[in-house]
Amino acid sequence: MLPKIHIIATGGTIAGKSSEKGYVAGKTSIEEILSAVPELKEIARLDFEQFCNIGSQDMDETIWLALSKRVDSLLLSEEYDGVVITHGTDTMEETACFLNWTIHSAKPVVLVGSMRPSDALDADGPANLLVAVRGAADVKNAGKEVLLCLGKKLLESSEAFKKDSHEIDALGCVPPDFRAPHGKNFGFDIRNENVLPRVGIVYGYGGASTIPLQAFMDAGYDGVVLAGVGGGNFYSPVQRLAEKAVRMGMLIVRSTRCPYGGVYTLGGEVDDLKLGFVAAGSLNPQKARVLLMLALTETRDVEKIRLKFQGVN
Ligand code: GLU
Repeated sequence: MLPKIHIIATGGTIAGKSSEKGYVAGKTSIEEILSAVPELKEIARLDFEQFCNIGSQDMDETIWLALSKRVDSLLLSEEYDGVVITHGTDTMEETACFLNWTIHSAKPVVLVGSMRPSDALDADGPANLLVAVRGAADVKNAGKEVLLCLGKKLLESSEAFKKDSHEIDALGCVPPDFRAPHGKNFGFDIRNENVLPRVGIVYGYGGASTIPLQAFMDAGYDGVVLAGVGGGNFYSPVQRLAEKAVRMGMLIVRSTRCPYGGVYTLGGEVDDLKLGFVAAGSLNPQKARVLLMLALTETRDVEKIRLKFQGVN
């Protein structure tokens, strides 16, 4: 018997339709999308649900929590061998990491998107969907991280990031990092969580303003990820304010706006151990934010949060 795969549709360009000015994400139903790929029936037995129909710029913590709980309960049932989630590509890496760190099953989970709307001449959604369903139906992908599918390729969530805002092959890949938080034994139990701790991102640049960080502090945020320059460095006034934020009980994670290389405590210019910062490792700022929100559901202890960023439960 063919494997049984459940498809959860959330929107994105794969469900987009052309408009006069460009296109609108999240316009086509999952039935219509699936009917364009009859070959899927030869790979798996499928059922599906329309979870939401949004551009992924509108993904948020509320949807992540609900989606994770839904995928977890589907995969805990004997009925399903894997799950495919259609998703916009803008924030696909964040959703993938959230699911990767919160789903308790080893069965394959694949997020799939497209860069061209469903009615474009060069629509890439159908071929990507075929690769995604094949990936979710393949037992060789059991135990792997949550996967992302774009450009007819499958990439693991800790490595994949959106590198291109236009081209069809829009996902880049950082080299695998054995110190990164992944693997079957790493994760969080969010089944009883209804809201997540508040974590913001502050971008670094020459002459950076302290206003964004001060605003997060004034609003009582639990944590901030600094998307620093180079190896996680900051314009001095921002760093001094971050030191003050730590003294006031905020969790500060240092990451980098560079796509490659990461930020580590040893060998850098900032003394994390003395100043109470956490290094993001190879996680980019948006993935580090997801991890910090999850870590803060368990602890506010900086030592324990440092361990989470090294993949230690
Ligand atoms: N804003 C859209 C989204 O993320 C465009 C990107 C895409 O899906 O390709 O849903």
